[in-house]
Amino acid sequence: MKNVHLDSYSAADIDTQVTKILRDLGNPEPPLNLEHVRELLRLARDYYSTADDGLFKRWVHSLKLAGKQIAERPGFLKDFVRNFQLDALCLFDEKRILISTELPTPKQRWAEGHEIGHVIIPWHGPISLGDDNYTLTANCHETMEAEANYAARRLLFLGDQFKSRAQSSAPGLSHVMDLHDVFGNTLTTTFYSFVETLDIAAFGLITGHPKRPGKDFDRKAPCRHFISSVRFDEQFGNVTDTQLYAIVESYCGYGKWDLGTTEQIISDCRGDSYVFQMQTIFNHYDALTLGVLTRKHQTVFPGA
Ligand SMILES: [Zn+2]
Repeated sequence: MKNVHLDSYSAADIDTQVTKILRDLGNPEPPLNLEHVRELLRLARDYYSTADDGLFKRWVHSLKLAGKQIAERPGFLKDFVRNFQLDALCLFDEKRILISTELPTPKQRWAEGHEIGHVIIPWHGPISLGDDNYTLTANCHETMEAEANYAARRLLFLGDQFKSRAQSSAPGLSHVMDLHDVFGNTLTTTFYSFVETLDIAAFGLITGHPKRPGKDFDRKAPCRHFISSVRFDEQFGNVTDTQLYAIVESYCGYGKWDLGTTEQIISDCRGDSYVFQMQTIFNHYDALTLGVLTRKHQTVFPGA
């Protein structure tokens, strides 16, 4: 899945909402305490399990969807959650965020940030649950998800604080690990935000272990996520994640943590060649590859 860069107007509107929350919290130092955010927004947080009907019914008895009581349509919300494989959802009427107990604990923080994102973006509202006839188009849904993810990133990484720390030293995965410790978010979400934040041409790949692919590995779509900076998209829109993954496979070892590094020449849209520094680590769940443009490639002619 490729990351989506929001247009500057939408991003600025969301930034305004997040900045207000952070200001009301006294511009805290990282890591952000989500309990404080819930208190400020008067939000409740609970958990649900699609395997446990009781837990589910407890929260949806009074929920309305497009004017109808959910209770009149037994099983609707459960089917909804299951069909859309939701890790979390927000009951807007009740100001309550529900998180799946099946979601691993480290990922719950991101899921909560994402749902808070839906809550603080004024034009989302109850439509996030879909309307009565599922008329929410796929395109509209994708945009809303990208906006909620952007809001989550801005909130969990404390607005501009992350960018200034991310750009305080040379981009590399050891720096991403330091930021992961400071901001208290998973290494994968920290990595994702790091790549998006860079002002230089850079990309990130989130994949399985290149030398130990899982059973569900698909060679035609080898990357779970392909993240790129704005500069990379502008200059290297011709480069696909499949091409980049082939490079990763060529230099990675069988290791458990540090899988390898390389320097790779990559051509841009105009056919000019640039040198990228690439580095891959494996954190037991994901292989993270960071690629950063370091310099223009100079062709050396023999005898020149
Ligand atoms: Zn969402």
